[in-house]
Amino acid sequence: MEDKLNIKNSLLERFLKYVKIWSESDSQKADSGIMPSTSGQNEMASVLCAELKSLGLENVQTTEHCYTYGILPANGSAESSICLLAHIDTSEEVSGKNVNPKIHKNYSGGKIILCGAELDPQKDSALSLAAKNVETIITGDGTTLLGADDKAGVAEIVSCLEYLFSHSELKHPAIEVIFSPDEETGHGMDKVPLELLKSKCAYTVDGGHIGELETECFNAFRSDVVFKGNATHTGTARGTMVNAISMASSFVSNLPAGERPETTDGRQGFFAPISIEGSIEESKVSLLLRDFSADGMEKRKSTVELLAKAVSELFGGKAEVLHTQQYLNMKENLDKNPKVAERLISAYKASGIEPVFTPIRGGTDGSRLTEMGIPCPNIFTGGHNFHSRNEWASLDQMIKAVEVLVHLCCGEDFPQIIFCPN
Ligand SMILES: [Zn+2]
Repeated sequence: MEDKLNIKNSLLERFLKYVKIWSESDSQKADSGIMPSTSGQNEMASVLCAELKSLGLENVQTTEHCYTYGILPANGSAESSICLLAHIDTSEEVSGKNVNPKIHKNYSGGKIILCGAELDPQKDSALSLAAKNVETIITGDGTTLLGADDKAGVAEIVSCLEYLFSHSELKHPAIEVIFSPDEETGHGMDKVPLELLKSKCAYTVDGGHIGELETECFNAFRSDVVFKGNATHTGTARGTMVNAISMASSFVSNLPAGERPETTDGRQGFFAPISIEGSIEESKVSLLLRDFSADGMEKRKSTVELLAKAVSELFGGKAEVLHTQQYLNMKENLDKNPKVAERLISAYKASGIEPVFTPIRGGTDGSRLTEMGIPCPNIFTGGHNFHSRNEWASLDQMIKAVEVLVHLCCGEDFPQIIFCPN
């Protein structure tokens, strides 16, 4: 019983400590190669570095680019090591400065009114479910995000390590951890210290609702389409002017209307124009292409090329298309290494959780790492409504995430551990 109480209090305390550290990342700085993009991330890293050392991890260090690494040595298990991963930055979409977390103990329903935000279980099915189970909910005060994305994941990993450290009777292989900066900017794996990493597989703890298990994400490309026109005096333009702005506008309005982010969900891919700029002489449209299948992505790329060509011919100008790969669906590499996901599924089941396989309509550090040859599925954190003032986390679901992690680390001989939330 003592352990059960300890894990709850220490997990909560740890999570509250982390969310109060302002570690929002800055995509402009990250895009220009500055890593970490903000100094708050260094503060998070130094707190974590000290904690990992106190929990018996070895070779603990924060790299020049703010990755915190450590390894908990094996204590009798002959299995090969695994790595756990979470990110220390929060999204810049909503401020993460002066987060003032509110605890709603044994939440049983009703609107949660915050200043500047409102959580309504009638509009939020996950919240309504949490109310039914009388879970303890944590929110911000409505003026900031909460930062459960991904400080819930970080806190859960550290709590798992603490549990293993204080229960040496539980046999586990070596456990490596990496806490990475700048995930939200898309640069989270740019400087990952692969030279330190011994594990052949890893697990990110960066998902949402309890039970979610992610082994699939989008294939992602960015397309930049440049239209070239011909500028003349507007008074004498007839027959000579070719307007690159009109070309760009025609291109965007002819993209399939049913394949936009705002008109798709589930397994559907999309074309998302993200910027349009230019003059009569030259204009540029940038768009994101997303598709779960590799074939589908090839079709999207050729749709962009054909449409750009058709528009340029119609207007009598020119078009150039450049596709840049952003990340790939991790499914293919995970399918080649089925044991990685199987180990995780067994850990969910040992914790009494039926996994729900949700395809990620985006990418994670895990998808980038999978591409680099280290298969890396994603585990739920118990956080919800990420990147918003309505972000909340369930302490009960966070405890279950720790339970999954402990089972995952102990592997084959799953110990019978069930943490009681009460
Ligand atoms: Zn995240």
